[in-house]
Amino acid sequence: MKQSKNKPEIKEFVKTQQVQEGYLANTIKYLDAIIFSSVPDGSSFYFITPAIEKIAGIKPEEAVEKKYVLMKMVAPEDFAAVRHFFSEAKDGKAGTLEYRIKNRRGEKLFIRHSIFPIVENGTVIRVDGIIYDITKEKQNEEQLKKTDEKLRNLIEAADDLIFVLDKNGNFISVNVNGALNLEYNPVEMRGKHFLNFIEDSNKQAIAKSFREILRVNSVVTFESFFKSKYDKTIIFEVNARAILENGKVDGLIGIGRNVTTKRFDQEKMKDLNNKLIEANRLISIERDRAKQKISILEELNRLKNEFVSNISHELRTPLASIIGFAETIDSDRSMPTELRDEFNQIILTEAKRLATLINDVLDISKIEEGKIDLVKSEFTFNEIIAPLIEEYRRKSREKGIIFTCEIPEQQIFLFADKSRIIQVLDNVLSNALKFTTQGRITLIVQSMYRECEIIVTDTGIGIPKKDIPFLFQKFYRVSRAGSEIPGTGLGLAFVKQIIDLHKGFVTINSEEEKGSTIVIKLPTARRE
Ligand code: ADP
Repeated sequence: MKQSKNKPEIKEFVKTQQVQEGYLANTIKYLDAIIFSSVPDGSSFYFITPAIEKIAGIKPEEAVEKKYVLMKMVAPEDFAAVRHFFSEAKDGKAGTLEYRIKNRRGEKLFIRHSIFPIVENGTVIRVDGIIYDITKEKQNEEQLKKTDEKLRNLIEAADDLIFVLDKNGNFISVNVNGALNLEYNPVEMRGKHFLNFIEDSNKQAIAKSFREILRVNSVVTFESFFKSKYDKTIIFEVNARAILENGKVDGLIGIGRNVTTKRFDQEKMKDLNNKLIEANRLISIERDRAKQKISILEELNRLKNEFVSNISHELRTPLASIIGFAETIDSDRSMPTELRDEFNQIILTEAKRLATLINDVLDISKIEEGKIDLVKSEFTFNEIIAPLIEEYRRKSREKGIIFTCEIPEQQIFLFADKSRIIQVLDNVLSNALKFTTQGRITLIVQSMYRECEIIVTDTGIGIPKKDIPFLFQKFYRVSRAGSEIPGTGLGLAFVKQIIDLHKGFVTINSEEEKGSTIVIKLPTARRE
């Protein structure tokens, strides 16, 4: 081999044997370990270095002179092992034993004792060896063991799922409590693939998270839906990262927090929230309804007030003329009989009008309270319509309106409350006359199968679309600014109630400025 030029020649280090022994003596003197040469059974020493004093607290001379000095220091619990160790040495077997001693100073030490039997001609002639004080080393080891154990206990006791997977994704280890969360014990899980414990619907997402772990080489957080041994869904929020060995992925380590209750509570909260929204919606509906009711009540109140003012007007007008004409008759005794008769006639007519009005109001309340009984009899429609046609033809003529009617020749029999039906027809015809200033009023009567249809059409002022649905409400009147036509709003309410009581049917069609049509259907009398 080629020597480097700068290196000194080897012979420079070769010293005389004397010098070398000097070095050795020095080394032995200061060496912390004991070097010895003993009889084969180790009971006494031929030679032992000064470190015996440091370790055992006895002088080397004593160790050489006396037997069993070291043996006597062995801790009772290790004694048997030590004896066995020496007996093996005697048989020529080299070895090392660690055991405890209590030295002369009363200190408890741990020592490592190595022996090399020297054999000549097949016999052990002596045993050489070396003894170290390894107390510190043992203490450290013990400390480390304790720390390790604490850590292990901590992991085992943790509520979290702490696990290690191999590079294929199989469980290498898992903590007891973590496994218990899934109703398994760690042994049942070991060696099985992580995905075996995952719900089917979540498997793809987990596989994706694993790929992510391999890619990013840092902690990845993902949610795992585990399927417990008894088929419960347990949700863990897992933090995991790859274990690298020489730059290659060798497995995966992870910790998962059980968030099942949290998720469950969140779901519950969501559910409650939805219920709350629903309750709020219902409350707002109820509030709207209440508002509507209030506005209906307000409307009723308004209608009532309007009615009171209308009825007062309706009452006052005939009353005023009754009083006026009565006073005139009373103050003028010499009034010609003809004039008096005419005035008396007016008083009578107005008084009748008053009586009818009052009856109407009373009737309607009676019907509403269900207190009215229909007085039914059989009669022909023709007999009741004839006088009405005559009356309205005359009144129309007076107003400059054409009155036409189409009445079938054949008799139509009704079984009904005659006077009420007359009132109904009178109401409808009087409305047509009241709200028509020019054109015509047409009355058409048709006899249909078990039904009599009465249609009254006029070319009057008509009714706004928005008012039509309310016409049958009591006291409802169409407000027409500027051209107030007197009325109480009772007529159509009465019509509807009477027709309903007779199991008939009534509708109104109308168009403003063009006119109105009211259709009444009444069942005819059965004449089998
Ligand atoms: P009123 O005593 O006010 O006539 P009704 O109940 O008979 O009360 O009628 C209700 C309202 O319907 C009236 O105020 C009127 O505005 C309207 N109405 C009824 N019939 C007619 C019609 N033929 N033409 C126009 N408006 C009508």
